[in-house]
Amino acid sequence: MDYVESVLASLKAKNPNEPEFHQAATEILEGLRPVVAQHPEYERAALLERFVEPERVVMFRVPWVDDGGKVHVNKGYRVQFNSAIGPYKGGLRFHPSVNLSIIKFLGLEQILKNSLTGLPIGGGKGGSDFDPKGKSDNEIMRFCQSFMTELFRHIGQDTDVPAGDIGVGGREVGYLFGQYKRICNEHVGVLTGRGIPYGGSLVRTEATGYGLVYMVEEALKCRGDSLEGKTVVISGAGNVAIYACEKAQSLGANVVAMYDSDGYIYDRAGIRLDVIKQIKEVERLRIKEYAARVAGAEYHEGCTGIWTIPCDIALPCATQNEIDEASAKTLVANGVKYVGEGANMPTTLEGIAVFRAAGVVFLPAKAANAGGVATSALEMAQSSQRIFWPFEKVDAQLKQIMIDIYHNMDDAASRYNVPGNYVAGANIAGFEKVASAMMAQGIV
Ligand code: NDP
Repeated sequence: MDYVESVLASLKAKNPNEPEFHQAATEILEGLRPVVAQHPEYERAALLERFVEPERVVMFRVPWVDDGGKVHVNKGYRVQFNSAIGPYKGGLRFHPSVNLSIIKFLGLEQILKNSLTGLPIGGGKGGSDFDPKGKSDNEIMRFCQSFMTELFRHIGQDTDVPAGDIGVGGREVGYLFGQYKRICNEHVGVLTGRGIPYGGSLVRTEATGYGLVYMVEEALKCRGDSLEGKTVVISGAGNVAIYACEKAQSLGANVVAMYDSDGYIYDRAGIRLDVIKQIKEVERLRIKEYAARVAGAEYHEGCTGIWTIPCDIALPCATQNEIDEASAKTLVANGVKYVGEGANMPTTLEGIAVFRAAGVVFLPAKAANAGGVATSALEMAQSSQRIFWPFEKVDAQLKQIMIDIYHNMDDAASRYNVPGNYVAGANIAGFEKVASAMMAQGIV
């Protein structure tokens, strides 16, 4: 058994019933094999064992009272995974599926993603199994206040800076920040994704979706092509999906399908993003509404059918494991050429293998969706300086960061003799910096 295999075997034995964490660790460590082979000192320093073990895991009770006076109790999590290159940084997810395995997979991915941005941020992630769907504004506020009443003691602008993720958007970040400020009596950049009037950064809302499309654009450009006239399918209808759609359309692509967790819409004429924003951001309704409002659009129950729609570019932007082996095969058979992961780990390991075998340009999440956290780090910089940068300045920095990440992962893949394998390239490029920082800081 080699070093990577023995670390993975021990991780699985010590952390049973954490399939998502196993999946992410397997994808990452397999890709790091060539690096580990060149650095025998890593094994002597048990670097991989330390890398896959969070520095700290906080789990807590979140009690709250609904509008009818009934008391509920949810689970709260914050995994502070790695602070070698900066304060822990990563979003909070509120979704009924949240458990320790999911938070740990997200936290592990986050370490390398944050490193890839080139900015000084470590990796962390958190959340709750609370379901915001169908809750009133007051219930959301009371839940966020209760969540922060425990979380505040573990975070800080130089310690751990959470942000949004699934189910945590501007509204939730606002309530969380309000409670932090009330308890700690300090107005600091302890959460990112804040509203513009109270310390947020322009472009943060758009950043993950825009960043994803900037990277796809660069990958196309390096192959003498562009987004102009390309057919694009995007899964999800949340923050990442909406702004990926906006940027792709502005660069001339035809986005024809999107979904929420109930079903998908197919609009051959091109998605009307103003209608999506009205339904999803303003009225908070189901995507089914779109077909009722736009002539010629179809609605289909269920999500996986979206991958049967022929497209040049697929951008999964909803959640983990949306594209399995069968969906990947269908996409390839229908001519997909590029897959850019906006969501975290939306493609299964088997799905990735299908894309690689077919020569699809596959841009993995930790690189392709790093624009959100990169812009969060720019928000932290602005908070520290007590200054606001204009939209164009933040957007230009975001674009440059995405172009740099693309080339860093491309270079890393070539340096280690796996050209075009961006899964390996992203893992290697992200890991190199974290590994050298961990080695420099001793056995901690
Ligand atoms: P949102 O909550 O804004 O949107 C999530 C979207 O995905 C919704 O349309 C939701 O549908 C759908 N969805 C969620 N779970 C499922 C599911 N199990 N099956 C089908 N559809 C589902 O989240 P974000 O857009 O912020 O996040 C989307 C992905 O991007 C996540 O993987 C997140 O980790 C990742 N990401 C987000 C970043 C950000 O800046 N926001 C940064 C980097 C990564 P419904 O409303 O019906 O639940």
